[in-house]
Amino acid sequence: MSAILLDGTRIANEIKAEVAADAKSLFEAGIRPGLAAVLVGNDAASEVYVRSKVRACEALGFFSEQIVRPASSTTAEVLALVRELNERDEIDGILVQLPLPRGIDARNVLLEIDPAKDVDGLHPFNVGNLVANHPTLVACTPAGVMEILRRSNIPVEGNEAVVVGRSDIVGRPVAMLLTNANATVTVCHSKTRDLAAICRRADILVAAIGRPAMITREFVKPGATVIDVGINRVSDIALAKRIIAGDPEKLASFEKRGYILVGDVLPAVAEVAGAMTPVPGGVGLLTIAMLMSNTLKAAKLRRGARVAAGKS
Ligand code: NDP
Repeated sequence: MSAILLDGTRIANEIKAEVAADAKSLFEAGIRPGLAAVLVGNDAASEVYVRSKVRACEALGFFSEQIVRPASSTTAEVLALVRELNERDEIDGILVQLPLPRGIDARNVLLEIDPAKDVDGLHPFNVGNLVANHPTLVACTPAGVMEILRRSNIPVEGNEAVVVGRSDIVGRPVAMLLTNANATVTVCHSKTRDLAAICRRADILVAAIGRPAMITREFVKPGATVIDVGINRVSDIALAKRIIAGDPEKLASFEKRGYILVGDVLPAVAEVAGAMTPVPGGVGLLTIAMLMSNTLKAAKLRRGARVAAGKS
């Protein structure tokens, strides 16, 4: 058996096209949805993520602003910046790229974001609405996971879903979304006993662990859908070879760049799974598409009434 690959590129493009069409009424009323992306410090991966988010805004004609602050910034300085962005009418979404440098109180920073502009869906107000099954702005990666399932016609209701990982950003919200969609959900973490046996119960297995290729064949029920959220940079040649065994294209890419991006799921799991997301080319692309969707949603919720009134 060879799993159907769930194509993140196709689904992300589909969502972005829908966002573009849906944004027309705002543009016609002179409103450009706007996103402020705050980057504190110079973490290389964060720089790449923020750049691609700003580029996605530009492609849709949204207003975007990348705000860079030094790693030496204090919590008070970042809080003041967030307050300023809360006040600016042309900013509909505020994204503070995580992780923040050590020494900055990330929780306080996220609490300071106006929940109506919280396009990352991490403010307790939005998390609470998700838990109460009245979702407002939902965290982008978990929302993307649900879009992959929905748009690939993977049935969720009544099925067993196992989520490995319980972070605020991925594991917890994805488990809540699956619960709201009527799956029977088990959440696993580093203290879970006999992880493989629990994972093997899953019709839908979501891996959000941050450990390269940890999910191997014995974790997967034949025919299950496997969603790989993990993005891990592997520069150890022996590990890379074990993970990408038999894929000459990926091996060539490793040799050229000195590293390779892999998920939390061993690619060979495709021999057991019924459907699976690739890494790269899977969930990661959905995260940006859902950020655009959230930015539009935030703009409509905050400024939409002005469309009907015909003024910006
Ligand atoms: P965190 O480190 O915040 O959480 C990891 C979770 O995995 C924790 O709940 C941890 O358990 C659990 N875990 C760790 N080791 C094990 C183990 N051996 N067995 C079982 N559970 C384990 O990571 P994130 O949720 O932020 O990210 C997870 C992955 O997803 C990363 O690779 C990250 O890069 C990627 N990611 C991808 C995104 C995308 O756009 N595709 C967006 C965000 C993240 P415990 O709680 O007990 O510590």
